[in-house]
Amino acid sequence: MAKNSITKKYQNLVSQINSLEDKFQTLTDNELRAQSFKLKQQYKDSEDLNSVISESFALTREASLRTLGLRHFDVQLIGGLTLNNQKIAEMKTGEGKTLVATLAASLNALTEKGVHIVTINDYLASRDHASMSQIYSLLGLTTGLIQDDMSKPERQKNYNSDITYVTNYEVAFDYLRDNMVVSLKDVTLRPFNYCIIDEVDSVLIDEAQTPLIISDNIETPVDKYIIAAEMMQYLKRDVHYKVDEKNKNIILLDKGSQQIENILQIKDLYDPRDPWIPYINNAIKANALFTNNVQYIVQNNRIVIVDEFTGRIMPDRRWGDGLHQAIEAKEQLPIRQKSETQAEITYQNFFLLYPKLSGMTGTGKTAEIEFEKIYKLSVDQVPTARPPLRNDLSDQIYKDQFLKWNAISKTCNEVSQTGQPVLIGTTTIEKSEMLAELLNEYKLSYQLLNAKPENVRRESEIVAQAGRRGAITIATNMAGRGTDIILGGNITFNVQKELYDILTFSRNYMLSKGRNLFQSPLKTQLKSYSQNFLSVLFSILNDPLFVELSDIDMLRALRESDTNSIPTSSYQCSLKFLSDELKQHYNKNQKQENQIVKNLGGLYIVGTERNDSRRVDNQLRGRCGRQGDPGTSRFFLSLDDNLLRLFGGSKIQNFLQSQMLDDSPLESKLLSRSLDSAQQKVEERAYQQRKNLFEYDEVLNRQRSIIYLERSVILKKESLKKTMLAYGEQFITMLFVKQKIETVSAKQTLSFFEDFFGKELILNSKANPLDFQRHLFNEFWLTYQAKINQLSIYGDGMSANLERSVCLLNIDKIWREHLDEMTLLREAVSWRGYGQQNPLYEYKKDALVFFTKQGKLLRHLVIYDYLRASVL
Ligand code: ADP
Ligand code: MG
Repeated sequence: MAKNSITKKYQNLVSQINSLEDKFQTLTDNELRAQSFKLKQQYKDSEDLNSVISESFALTREASLRTLGLRHFDVQLIGGLTLNNQKIAEMKTGEGKTLVATLAASLNALTEKGVHIVTINDYLASRDHASMSQIYSLLGLTTGLIQDDMSKPERQKNYNSDITYVTNYEVAFDYLRDNMVVSLKDVTLRPFNYCIIDEVDSVLIDEAQTPLIISDNIETPVDKYIIAAEMMQYLKRDVHYKVDEKNKNIILLDKGSQQIENILQIKDLYDPRDPWIPYINNAIKANALFTNNVQYIVQNNRIVIVDEFTGRIMPDRRWGDGLHQAIEAKEQLPIRQKSETQAEITYQNFFLLYPKLSGMTGTGKTAEIEFEKIYKLSVDQVPTARPPLRNDLSDQIYKDQFLKWNAISKTCNEVSQTGQPVLIGTTTIEKSEMLAELLNEYKLSYQLLNAKPENVRRESEIVAQAGRRGAITIATNMAGRGTDIILGGNITFNVQKELYDILTFSRNYMLSKGRNLFQSPLKTQLKSYSQNFLSVLFSILNDPLFVELSDIDMLRALRESDTNSIPTSSYQCSLKFLSDELKQHYNKNQKQENQIVKNLGGLYIVGTERNDSRRVDNQLRGRCGRQGDPGTSRFFLSLDDNLLRLFGGSKIQNFLQSQMLDDSPLESKLLSRSLDSAQQKVEERAYQQRKNLFEYDEVLNRQRSIIYLERSVILKKESLKKTMLAYGEQFITMLFVKQKIETVSAKQTLSFFEDFFGKELILNSKANPLDFQRHLFNEFWLTYQAKINQLSIYGDGMSANLERSVCLLNIDKIWREHLDEMTLLREAVSWRGYGQQNPLYEYKKDALVFFTKQGKLLRHLVIYDYLRASVL
C-alpha cells in the first residue's frame, strides 16, 4: 500500500525529471554546468526551490552518469524527493542511498547556504565524499570533508563548501566548540541550513541515549572509589543488596549498610559531610550490572564503553556520576579524574537546530513514532529497484545456550560446505569469540569482526568480502555498517588492498635494503603481472613525490584513484593505471564468482539472538538480498536468552518448557509473536528513556540557546558599550526589585554599591527609592565612562577588547557552573519524585530560578571585573 502511494505521490515529478533526460544528454559538460548556474540564479530571483526541482534532479542524474557511470533509478529519484521533503526515506541496504543523497544535496546547495551530509564514521564520510564529489564538481558545486584529525582552518574551509560530508560526532562537537571560542575567526561552522543524515536510526536513536559532553578535569576522591570497590568482597547479592536487572538498578539493603559501616568504622554512610553512599552504590552497580567485554572493554588501561546496540566502541564517552570511576576501580585501573562539563548537548536537540532536516536508512519504520514525536520526521518507505528475493526463515528456538550455539556452529559448517557465504551477527564480543572457538572445532576458517580496536580499522574491508564464496564472517552487530556486500567479493576492495600491500612493501623493501624486488618474497606475485604493469609499478616506486607519502596518504591516494577524478600528478596517473589493470584482471573473475554465489543462494545470515529492538534485527537481515540478490536469514534463539528471560513472562516459559521434550528445536508462531511483543516492550522502554532525556534537555536547551545567542552577539559586535550599559542598569534594577529597597537600610545598599563601583558614593540618605536608583544609574554611567577614558590611553580598541573578554570569560564560567548545578538538580528532583511531586515540573521550576540567578550574577561579575580591570 505505502509503496504504491509514494510512487503515485511523486509520479508527476518523476516523469518531469525523466522527460528532461534527452535534452540534457546532448549538452556538453560546460553547458551542463551553465545550466546549474542558471538554476542558482533562478532560485535567487524566485527564492522558490520547488520550481527548480525537476531540472536540478535531471542535471544531477546526468552528471552522475557522466562521472560515475551510475544513472539514478526512478526509485532513487523518489528517495531524493522524499529527502527534500524533510522526511526519512526508508530504502533497503544496497539500494544506493549514497547516490540518492546527491539529488537532494545538489538541489539544496543551490541556495548557497550549505548542505551537510552526515554519516556515522570518518571512513564512510571520506568514502562517500571521494566518489560523490565527482558529480557535484561537474555541476560547479564545491564539496568538503571533515575528518577527525583536521585543524580549525581546514574545517572552516570544508564547512564553507556547498556540500560537506561529516560525521554526526564531528559536526556536533564543532558546534559546541564554536560556542566556546573567544574570537570570531575561530568559529568553524556557518549557520545551519539543510542536513541529510545517513543511517539516520543509528544517529538519532541508538546514539541519542547519552548527551555529548566537552569536559575538564577536577579533583576526584580516588581512595573512596578504591575502598568502595574492595568493599564488594564483603557484600553478597540478595543479602546485602538487591539487583533489578530490568531497570538496571541496585538497592543497598539495611544489612549491607551495617556491614559497610562496621568495616569502615564509620557512623553513617549517608553523612553529608563525608558521604560514602554514592561510591558504594556505584561499586555495586559496577559489579552487578557491568561486565568486561559486554558493556565495556579494557583498552590501554582504560575502560572503553561498548554500545550495546551496535557493538561499537565509543572511546570518547564516559559514564557519568562516578560510575566510570567505579568500574575503573573494579578493574584495578588508574582512576581518571572526574570532570567538569564545559558544554553539552544531546543529538536530539543538536539536529533540531537545522531548519531543514532529513534522513535515510534501511530500517526506519519500526521507530517511526519516535522520529515523529521528537524530530517531526515521518518515515516513507521507498520501493526497491528490483523485487526482493530474501528468504527469512522462521526463528528456531532451543532449550538452552549449549544446544543453541551447537546448532549455530553446525549450521555454519553445513552451509559453508556448499560454498555459500555466511555472516553471523552476535550481540557481544564475548559471544563472537566463543563462536569462533566452536568453529575452530570444525576446522573452519572465518573472519572475526568485533568492536576491539585492532579490528575496527579493517572492519569495512572484511565486511566487504563477506559475500565471497565460502566466506564465514562473525561480526558484532553492525560492525562495518554502510559497506556494500557484493556476492562473489568486492573488486574495489581487492584491488585497493592488493595495490596497497605491494606498494608499501616494495617501497619499504627498496628503501631499507636498496635491493632488487625480484629477490624479495614478492617475486612470484610480481611474475604474474604483465610487463606494462611492472614498468609502471617501478616508475611509481622511483617517483620522489610518491616515496614521500605517509601510509595514510597513500591509502587516500589509492581511494582517489578509484573514483573517476582527473589525476593531477604523475604518480596519481600511474596509480590509476595500476588499479584499472588489476580491476580488469579481477572483473572477469568477479562476474563468474558472482553468478556462482548467486546460484548457491547468496549470503546466509545467522542471527544468534533477538536484539533489543526489531530495527537492529532487520539491519542484520538486510545485509543480504541486496538489489534483488538471493539471500537467506535465520535467527537461532534459546529459552534463556536475555530477552526471553526478562520479558517473555512465565506463561510463555512454562508453555515452551512443556513443548520441549528433547533437544530438537522448536519453531512456533506463538513464540515469534511473544518475542515481538517482548522486543516492543524493550523498545518502548528505551524510547521512554530517550524521551525523558530529551524532555529534561529541552529545558537546558532553551537556556543554552539564550546563552549561545548572547555569546555570538558579543563575539560579533564591534562595540559592547550598549551591552555593558544594559548589564549595569539591569543589575541595579534587579537588585531594587528583588530587595524592595525600602525595607533594607539605605546605608547598607550604599555600601554595597560603593564596593561594587569601587569608590565612595555621596548620597542624600533621605532620597526616595526612585531617586536613589536614578542616582545609582548616574554613578554607574560616570564610573563606566571614566574607566573607558582611563583605558583609552592604551589605544583605541583596548576598552572594547577588554569588555569582550570579560564578558566571554564570565559567560563561560557562569554557564559551566550552571551545567553543574543542573546535573545536581536532576538528581535531586529524581529523589523528590518519591514525594508525589512531578520531577520534570520541579526541575523546570528550579531550572528557571537557577538561570535567573546566574543571569544576575553574570551582570554583576562582568561589571565588577571590568571596573577593576587593569592593563599590564
Ligand atoms: P546503501 O547505502 O543503500 O546500502 P550504497 O549507497 O552503499 O547502498 O550502494 C550500494 C551499491 O549500489 C554500490 O555499489 C553502488 O555503486 C550501487 N548503486 C547505487 N545506485 C546505483 C545505480 N543507480 N545504478 C547502479 N548501481 C548503483
Ligand atoms: Mg549506505
